[in-house]
Amino acid sequence: MNLSVPATLANYIGGALAAPATGKYMDNTNPATGAVYCQIPDSGEKDVETAVEAAEAALPEWSVTSAEARFTVLNRIADLIDNNIDALALAETNDNGKPLWLSKRVDIPRASANFRFFATGIMHFSTESHSMEDKAINYTLRQPVGVVGCISPWNLPLYLFTWKIAPALAAGNCVVAKPSEVTPATAYLLSVICREAGLPAGVLNIIHGTGQDCGAAIVAHERIKAISFTGSTKAGKQIAAVAAPMFKKLSLELGGKNPNIIFADCNWLKMMATTLQSSFSNQGQICLCGSRILVEESIYEKFKEEFIARAQKLSVGDPLDESSKQGAVVSRLHYDKVLSCIAVAKEEGGTILLGGHAVQGTGRCADGLFIAPTIIEGLGADCRTNMEEIFGPVVTLQSFKTEDEALRLANASNYGLAATIWTQDISRANRMAAKVQSGIIWVNCWLLRDLRTPFGGFKNSGVGREGGWEALRFFTEVKNVCVEL
Ligand code: NAD
Repeated sequence: MNLSVPATLANYIGGALAAPATGKYMDNTNPATGAVYCQIPDSGEKDVETAVEAAEAALPEWSVTSAEARFTVLNRIADLIDNNIDALALAETNDNGKPLWLSKRVDIPRASANFRFFATGIMHFSTESHSMEDKAINYTLRQPVGVVGCISPWNLPLYLFTWKIAPALAAGNCVVAKPSEVTPATAYLLSVICREAGLPAGVLNIIHGTGQDCGAAIVAHERIKAISFTGSTKAGKQIAAVAAPMFKKLSLELGGKNPNIIFADCNWLKMMATTLQSSFSNQGQICLCGSRILVEESIYEKFKEEFIARAQKLSVGDPLDESSKQGAVVSRLHYDKVLSCIAVAKEEGGTILLGGHAVQGTGRCADGLFIAPTIIEGLGADCRTNMEEIFGPVVTLQSFKTEDEALRLANASNYGLAATIWTQDISRANRMAAKVQSGIIWVNCWLLRDLRTPFGGFKNSGVGREGGWEALRFFTEVKNVCVEL
């Protein structure tokens, strides 16, 4: 199989690659070079309708296909992802700007892992029964929801796209999916892979287009029964406003403003190395990145000095260069947003300790969108810089004196996705873990992911949980059957 990104991407509907009914296309730009390198369908309502019809046609058979058959075909997709890791990683990097080594080491392996994990999961999925002694027995049926919608963002394109699609398919649903219009290439390649793997026509339909047109049409479609969305809190609100009155099942994985809480008794070297990663990996464009670093006062100055020195060494440049630790940010729009957030931090009185500016690329990357790792101090917990998600290579430092103060600062945010706690005191770690308002807490580590665990956020970070049984439960409808004995 020769997998490569063509000059014009196509939708994947009813098992076929198809041009959008709108006849319209959009430019797809490589953020590291500034060059437009392919055209993306700018699909609309009509394409969504065709995709829903294809999904409905496939549903009666797919929804009763044995778990073993679904396991087999999903594993075949995973194998093809693994066999084409180089082409997929290159496509991801050209679309997103992230270093190629990162796409190869993290994004693409995780995409195949998602398929394997849920393929295996469905083989072990079971339901409860409730016995009423000698009177009756209740058992729970979990049946596919039907046609479901999956909408994903640009920061971990194939990784998050498959994180939704795999459990939906494993549970027996047919899917209408839309990747981010900013990073559509690997989703397109996935459609080619699904055809090769023999996924029955219409079981998965992938349509490309903007959130406002294509995404909104998926959300508003009355025969799409559930929406699994990952993206910004702003879009999440719009989606909830449309989907809730239609009583759709809704899973919303939204933004974050995650605290890293660092106590003086932490394992210093491990904390330093990991905090550098949790701040700047993927140019800070991971929803789980820690963007508010809270440091105990007694080690604040030492931390600041060493953190700056380490961050200064992160080379920013061509994502295809193995030595680049930081690539480009994803798009011109996002680049402008991140730089404007840095300007706001300055206006608010923040001191830029490192970075705070764009980085001029060289050679083929002369027009690339690079931003220096940026560290800011001197801002209070309730200023915009510490309240609003920036989603770039920008972190702030704040100090605290006591555990209570650390907790107050950590919980000052309207978001509650993830937090990292660094201490060698196990009792304190557990105390803090219970009180920090976040769906995911890492103690003395970061981004250590077990796919069985519940994944999602508190407050403005979303509603519902993904991962493990949570995802399979979301993508099934529950029915209690009571049998009198
Ligand atoms: P976004 O909300 O702009 O777009 C996400 C997806 O939704 C895209 O496919 C987009 O086309 C679509 N979309 C936008 N508006 C829509 C609407 N009204 N109706 C239907 N679809 C719509 O987000 P983004 O800029 O692509 O991604 C960055 C955001 O995603 C950040 O806020 C980040 O924190 C968040 N994120 C969250 C998680 C998580 O697990 N909680 C993971 C990754 C990213």
